Amino acid sequence: MAANSAVPAKMKAWVYREHGDVATVLRLDSELEVPEVQEGQVLVKVLAAALNPVDTMRVNGVFQLPGFALPAVPGYDLAGIVVKVGREVKDLKVGDEVYGFMWHAKKDGTLAEYAALEVAFLALKPKKLSFEEAASLPAVIQTAYGGLERAGLSRGKSVLVLGGAGGVGTITIQLAKEVFGASRVAATSSTGKLDLLKSLGADLAIDYTKVNFEDLPEKFDVVYDAVGQSARAVKAVKPGGSVVEIVELDKELPPPAFSFVATSDRWTLEKVKPLLESGKVKPVIDPKSPFPFAQAIEAFSYLQTGRATGKVVIHPV
Ligand code: NDP
Repeated sequence: MAANSAVPAKMKAWVYREHGDVATVLRLDSELEVPEVQEGQVLVKVLAAALNPVDTMRVNGVFQLPGFALPAVPGYDLAGIVVKVGREVKDLKVGDEVYGFMWHAKKDGTLAEYAALEVAFLALKPKKLSFEEAASLPAVIQTAYGGLERAGLSRGKSVLVLGGAGGVGTITIQLAKEVFGASRVAATSSTGKLDLLKSLGADLAIDYTKVNFEDLPEKFDVVYDAVGQSARAVKAVKPGGSVVEIVELDKELPPPAFSFVATSDRWTLEKVKPLLESGKVKPVIDPKSPFPFAQAIEAFSYLQTGRATGKVVIHPV
């Protein structure tokens, strides 16, 4: 392993030692051991992180995968600089600016000064993006891209995005147009966010406070549900179309809805990179962001309102 003397033995990190409400169980620890770097991993100095609703579910204990262990550091999304590389790492080197999504995290997450993760989950940061912008993207790009791909969205088809103004929705609208070539994109939000939906490429912005999307005469080839409305979503899809459900994961879904869970892989980020460099796909960061590292609990509280616009980012770390 290439040692780097600038890496300290201890770091600041947000840690929870039991499951419960974020504000109750999450504590700032200034003396946490910097993670060991395994042979296929790199150590990243985290410069920015982003929150996802699943972070709260993980702290609460509502969401647990086999192998999760306490104490743990929350956070899946990061952008930062490689400061150490494992012996088997060939594709990245110390000094590389990277971003990624450590969905496999069982213990160590990204709300820390340093995070160790497999190179397979990291891509080089697009130069056009700041660290803050880059950190906002990995989880939602992989969720949006993977879900639209599984739903079979392709050139000339139409899509309705439920929850268009959230972290996932803002990217799903853009990828539907720019990557998948959708001929028509509709999306739902409350009244104040309709202009945002249009600015992201939505042809039809539906105000869910005034209109029930499933009652519209227009039906769609694909419905992407980032709200948890599968029973209504299946009424808005054309015969032969599909409904991708990313929220209601543990219930039986009405056909043709199917559930989708994102995975971490650098290739999706590589595929979208030209569009990020050209500015055709843009990060959307909530206007209340970024929250400085010390205010991570406030950032969680804000995300938990369910009213965030785009992504809630932690910066600087
Ligand atoms: P956000 O917290 O970013 O979503 C907030 C947005 O949701 C707000 O802008 C709000 O807009 C919008 N919203 C709330 N209620 C409605 C509604 N009834 N109709 C339309 N929009 C609504 O969450 P994310 O986008 O990050 O995630 C969305 C969901 O997807 C979460 O439940 C999350 O856990 C899940 N998810 C699942 C993944 C998977 O792999 N399966 C991966 C990532 C996320 P407004 O203020 O206008 O209401």
